[in-house]
Amino acid sequence: MGENLLAINGGTKVKTTAFGTGQRFGLEEAKELLEAIEQNTLFYHFGNKVKQFLQDFNDLYKVKYSVATSSGTAALHVALGAAGVTVGDEVITSPITDQGTVVGILYQNAIPIFADLDPHSYTLTAKSIEEKITAKTKAIIVVHLAGNPCDMDPIMELAKKYNLKVIEDCAQSYLTTYKGRLTGTIGDYGCFSTNDFKHISTGDGGIVIVNSSEESDYFTTHAFADKNYRRQEEAVVKDLEYLAPNYRMTELQGAVGIAQLKKLNWICTRRNELGERLRQGLSTIKGINPMKITEEGWCSYWFYMLTLNLEQFSCSREELSEALAAEGIPNQPGYIPKVLYAQPLFQNKQAYMNSHYPFDLGSYDYSIGSCPNAENILETAIRLNINEFYTDQDIEDMIVAIEKVAFYYSK
Ligand SMILES: *Cc1c(COP(=O)(O)O)cnc(C)c1O
Repeated sequence: MGENLLAINGGTKVKTTAFGTGQRFGLEEAKELLEAIEQNTLFYHFGNKVKQFLQDFNDLYKVKYSVATSSGTAALHVALGAAGVTVGDEVITSPITDQGTVVGILYQNAIPIFADLDPHSYTLTAKSIEEKITAKTKAIIVVHLAGNPCDMDPIMELAKKYNLKVIEDCAQSYLTTYKGRLTGTIGDYGCFSTNDFKHISTGDGGIVIVNSSEESDYFTTHAFADKNYRRQEEAVVKDLEYLAPNYRMTELQGAVGIAQLKKLNWICTRRNELGERLRQGLSTIKGINPMKITEEGWCSYWFYMLTLNLEQFSCSREELSEALAAEGIPNQPGYIPKVLYAQPLFQNKQAYMNSHYPFDLGSYDYSIGSCPNAENILETAIRLNINEFYTDQDIEDMIVAIEKVAFYYSK
């Protein structure tokens, strides 16, 4: 009896032990950092750390070209710039993502257009994307949310049909595969973040994979992250044919990145094991829709997000979330506070202070209700943390606690 009484109502907590933790950084990173300092330069072009980091990354991903950047947001902007996205172009993307996905679009004075998501995998679909294509569409940014791959084959087919560039936002999808192919190697560009909250961290940082076989596309991408300086020539070419920011990675970030990359495989493998066990454990609980992994996909679980069939519960999503927290399971209702287009930036069409540019170049629909699945996901989701240091017991406790709370509130 006492075991079934919710902790929030004075019952016994399910989780009585602390979640597993561990050190992300150690002597491996310190040694690389010391070497970087001893180079007597922290500039990527003169030192060897960023170069080594990219070489290791290219080997791991079996790609030829990649460019280091100062953040994931920068990586996405660089890909957009290199892809030729410019004033008035439309770029189709997901309404549930970090704002870093759309920042570069607007800095190119192009227009983010939001397409709806699959209700259970939380990813864009070829069908929802196609509904948003116009004569102005130039590119698609797919987001492999939480490490779950988008169904890329139909999306690539669509891109080919309409001659669109495909940029993969892989900030949350390290080593994720789709039909055996790594995300980031399928579209034209793959963009990664190494901010402190991602699978691996360099404090801040990013990477752009350039999947073109043309060396000139790599040079253009490289230059777009480095003030348009062309460093492939003997003498650096500094002609400014168009605007490009300084998004360079420093040797300090590159040094930490070298050591972090060596841990990436076990981090993703462990997160996949834990996430899969959680998904399996939740699959039979009434009222709960587990996160759906895309067919023939392998998810590296940056987080785990389920949705609730609220009509099957006698409580609100927030009450269920609080009851779960009281059982000792940290969780968050939803992910980002609202779909991106519900933010004032889009509702007021104001990307730049005191201006409506580039939104005044055309008429764009950001009305609430325009991506109903995405809005419903954020209103019914519970997000659970996944961490490579969690133990099997941690996951079992999460399952037991969710079962207990869901059963109690089940109608
Ligand atoms: C973290 C993240 C970004 C932005 O990366 P930063 O390094 O924080 O700039 C972009 N897209 C997604 C999906 C992210 O999770």
